[in-house]
Amino acid sequence: MKFKDYNIHDEIKRALDDMGIHTPTDIQEQAIPEILKGESTHILAQAKTGTGKTLAFSIPIVEFLDPSLKKVQTVILVPTRELCKQVYHVISKLGTNRRLKSVEVYGGVSINRQIEKIKAGAQIVVATPGRLIDLFKRNAISFTAVQFVVLDEADRMLDMGFLPDVDYILFDAMKNVYPRLLLFSATMLPEVKDIMMDYSLDENIVEIDVSRDDLTVSACKQYYYLSDPKYKYNSFIRLLNREKPSSFIVFVNTKRWAVSLRKKMIKDKRISFRVGLLQGDMSQRQREITMSDFRNKKITCLIATDVAARGLDIPHVSHIFNYDLPVGNPENYVHRIGRTSRMERAGIAISLVENEEMNMIRRIELFMKRDIRRYYLTREEREQDKARHRTYPTIKETKKQLEGLEDEEYPETIADTSIYG
Ligand code: AMP
Repeated sequence: MKFKDYNIHDEIKRALDDMGIHTPTDIQEQAIPEILKGESTHILAQAKTGTGKTLAFSIPIVEFLDPSLKKVQTVILVPTRELCKQVYHVISKLGTNRRLKSVEVYGGVSINRQIEKIKAGAQIVVATPGRLIDLFKRNAISFTAVQFVVLDEADRMLDMGFLPDVDYILFDAMKNVYPRLLLFSATMLPEVKDIMMDYSLDENIVEIDVSRDDLTVSACKQYYYLSDPKYKYNSFIRLLNREKPSSFIVFVNTKRWAVSLRKKMIKDKRISFRVGLLQGDMSQRQREITMSDFRNKKITCLIATDVAARGLDIPHVSHIFNYDLPVGNPENYVHRIGRTSRMERAGIAISLVENEEMNMIRRIELFMKRDIRRYYLTREEREQDKARHRTYPTIKETKKQLEGLEDEEYPETIADTSIYG
């Protein structure tokens, strides 16, 4: 079924047409009819980034809201400012034909303009938790007409320590008017489910899981190079020149190293990429400029900390480099590589791995239930590794060894090679 066959306002169909979107993705096919049909259903959806979940909640929300009521009718909570801008961009575009107004609410910029927009009658608020609480405490926002509360990337929100803030908001937003809770999360940790159970008052909860399809991971070609820390930078530059990525993100683990790596790359005459930086210490304005430059391809290389790992949707990213392998939860790796292969476009993810990080590679492989192939920086390295791991001797080696054996010592088959070690 296509969107044109859905029972939704023509204004929404036109907006989708303008975006070039015609056929629903899995998560959209499952979530949209559920949200459209029941008054009291809540949605608990497990869907990874890049699966089209923003439209999965935005389409029914825009369908239900009342443009003539100039009050906040939907609150969408997101973990980062970047995701806030992205979701705002999608839902405001989708709502324009229905004359619905949206506002993006996040910290690091003037609060007054956000207050003005809410006062002017915005119906949809896309917000990071801290700033929303700020607005609430100033009596600049009321939840009395709210029909939908969305938690996007709920697991990430908890990871970032936002649970008390989320609780604070939900406690107020979910009382009296009983809005519907739409919760989207890449993983379904018990803590995420608890939020739903705590606030849904045991009403009808529809669980949706499209995570098994795992589009992001399956469309992405992944490999790693083993790299000595001493030579890592040079190996990285060689890889860049070999791969010639058109647009790529380089993930590192610390803000300091992100800054230094960028400086190093800018000075490096061997490369000609325009290099940008995205890390948590930058001002909101700087982050926005960087993201817009990256989107518009003014910057082709973005050095980033995990601030950039979730939710960002930049379709043209061809490569992800893990200059540092993520630490902690192996799932972070999946989120990072999810910045490429958006909507099943092929992408490449390359990790530079130090010897002691091999454990992490194994944990990531176990988590994904999929191998990451090892590639080699030099031919010698490949030969050495092959020799080390070879189970069967080469024919030449076998012949040589057999020459020195007595008859009774002959192995039954070539595969019976234990004597060769
Ligand atoms: P999301 O998972 O919401 O970040 O969406 C990922 C990307 O998929 C965005 O670039 C969307 O514009 C795109 N997208 C979402 N739904 C569809 C669809 N039904 N058909 C084609 N592209 C889509």
